[in-house]
Amino acid sequence: MPIFEYKCNQCEKEFEKLVFSGEENNVSCPECKSLDVAKKMSATSFMGNSIGTCATSPSKGFS
Ligand SMILES: [Zn+2]
Repeated sequence: MPIFEYKCNQCEKEFEKLVFSGEENNVSCPECKSLDVAKKMSATSFMGNSIGTCATSPSKGFS
């Protein structure tokens, strides 16, 4: 099950939520109930996708 990290744009509370398919765009802040939340990519689910790709990609052996 994917657990996503969110940050509320209203009260800036960060929280994690287990999100089922189709619900990821319908997450509300547990603090202020705002739907204005930003989803942060989970490092465990998206390893190598954005985080660390540039930092760890070896230049040697590529050319
Ligand atoms: Zn909030």
